[in-house]
Amino acid sequence: MEWIIRESDNYIFHYYAGSIAEKQIEKIINLQETCFDFICSCLEVTMETKINYYLCNSPTEVGEFYGDNEPCNACAKEPNEIYAVYNDQIKCVGFHEDAHVISYNLAIPPQIFMREGLAMFFDKVSLQIPNYAWVKFFMDNHMYIRIEELITNENFYQYSDLITYPIAGAFAEYLILMFGIDKFKTFYSSLKEDNFESSFHAIFKVPFSIIDAKFKEYIDSIGTNRTISNIIQKELKSRNLLK
Ligand SMILES: [Zn+2]
Repeated sequence: MEWIIRESDNYIFHYYAGSIAEKQIEKIINLQETCFDFICSCLEVTMETKINYYLCNSPTEVGEFYGDNEPCNACAKEPNEIYAVYNDQIKCVGFHEDAHVISYNLAIPPQIFMREGLAMFFDKVSLQIPNYAWVKFFMDNHMYIRIEELITNENFYQYSDLITYPIAGAFAEYLILMFGIDKFKTFYSSLKEDNFESSFHAIFKVPFSIIDAKFKEYIDSIGTNRTISNIIQKELKSRNLLK
């Protein structure tokens, strides 16, 4: 199928004739331009080129374009490409992939936990429920995974993204609020395979182990609504993730 191309201020959108994306392209442009503006301002990053945004029909198609043939709802590819499903059921647009692409201008840390954390910080939510509410639920239900464990990619992949992503997002937000965006960016850009804890201590002037514990106390101090906890429980149960 041939792509139809539509340019906006910061994007080049690609979509198919007759697709839902075509019908809703104005709405998509407004949404992504809003996300773009917010992420670039927050990270103080300027994109050299427009982002090529491919609105695909299915997760299979996204996997094919990405190149690994693994079906997935959306993915970002260096330096400036996004492939995302936009159909009846799945509309994978918003902050997440754009945050990945825009943050490539800062660095690409080896720790997936940090990369997904920054993207999830901009999302603020998973299944429309705030990241912190998920983390609080995990802590209350013995499902919380220590960050010390998650910074190793092998471990990160062992768990469902429904568990790892909100923890990553809530932790990135905690660091940004505690230390400010500039120090966060310095830390994010400093990361190598084996320097997470030493770089953390050097830049934030606190040992990682202390912040790991303080993060849990912080999350535990935020109130959540019972109805939201019930929804989280239901979502986890439906995916066989409940302990
Ligand atoms: Zn991501």
